[in-house]
Amino acid sequence: MPTTIPFLDLPPQNRALRPALEAALRRVLDSGAFILGPEVQAFESEFAALCGVEHAVAVNSGTSALLLALAAAKVGPGDEVVTTPFSFIATASVICHLGARPVFADIDPLSYCLDPEAAAAAVSERTRALLPVHLFGQPADMAPLRKIAARHGLALIEDAAQAHAAEYQGRRAGALGDSGCFSFYPTKNLGALGEGGMVTTADGALAEQLRSLRDWGQQRKYIHAQLAWNARMEGMQGAVLRVKLRQLPAWTAARRAHAARYAELLPGIGLAAPCEAPQRLHVYHVFNVRVPRRAQVREALAEQGIGTGIVYPLPLHLQPAFAELGHAPGAFPEAERAAQELLALPIYPELPEDAPERVVKALGQALGR
Ligand SMILES: *Cc1c(COP(=O)(O)O)cnc(C)c1O
Repeated sequence: MPTTIPFLDLPPQNRALRPALEAALRRVLDSGAFILGPEVQAFESEFAALCGVEHAVAVNSGTSALLLALAAAKVGPGDEVVTTPFSFIATASVICHLGARPVFADIDPLSYCLDPEAAAAAVSERTRALLPVHLFGQPADMAPLRKIAARHGLALIEDAAQAHAAEYQGRRAGALGDSGCFSFYPTKNLGALGEGGMVTTADGALAEQLRSLRDWGQQRKYIHAQLAWNARMEGMQGAVLRVKLRQLPAWTAARRAHAARYAELLPGIGLAAPCEAPQRLHVYHVFNVRVPRRAQVREALAEQGIGTGIVYPLPLHLQPAFAELGHAPGAFPEAERAAQELLALPIYPELPEDAPERVVKALGQALGR
């Protein structure tokens, strides 16, 4: 009986880095810099360099990154933000938390990212920002989105939570809009030992505003210029993320190598690999295939010890949490079709080299091909 292939496997990553992670944690323990501090500051510089932007502002989650980026773009009550219905709940939730309204536009069925034409049609007098998501690790089609933003005077904010070091026309995620929002949730391509996030921007004034918003709008000790939040990154997470950041190029290469192997094998069983759109570097946070009879296929793979995922089973416009927005099934057919058909296969840097072969073989058997 061959060993099982879990959908995700985090412990090997931390095991390999254990001495360096322990040293990093000890540095913070000894320094007492538990909130922000020199490790976080150094991580901000290193992450800004990775993205090719001037500024990076470290926060305590990807959700906070989105919330602060939208708040810094002056999104507030009565405003609308055009975004995708096919994403994690955080993307649209933060819009509502600021008193604004998420206006969904359907996805492009090949990249699963916001369709620029649909986004343009969704812009109204009240639109304040566009919030595309670089879903599964592939950048959204940013050039036309940038034109729409410029034409209507909108902020363009990237949800890059799944797209560390992904590229579009030779530029990195986080450098493709007015600001870029990252998550360091442990399962992301770059993961903390807990929660973490980052906002990147080329705009110095915007960076200053983000620094204020993450720290209670504090100007001087106990003098507060504006209403804000506690959204600061912890020192331990900054120290740990610096260790892991050095591995990111090798991890991205490993993810892409596994994806390439899957892509070689899938046509043999009549399935298509995810589309890599032109001029984009996909970092494969998730590797999806469209399959018929998904539930049965998933169960057949589980019986062979192969874990799979469904990311995401219900689009945002049909979530009970957004019932107030009043959308019915059929509103965004491509998002709904993707939610019904996509099956995520195991992909992570430490995935054994022969895993794609075994997974595709089991998939073929499950499909009777
Ligand atoms: C993970 C994720 C978030 C939220 O990040 P957290 O760090 O979990 O708060 C937002 N958007 C997308 C697309 C994500 O995948």
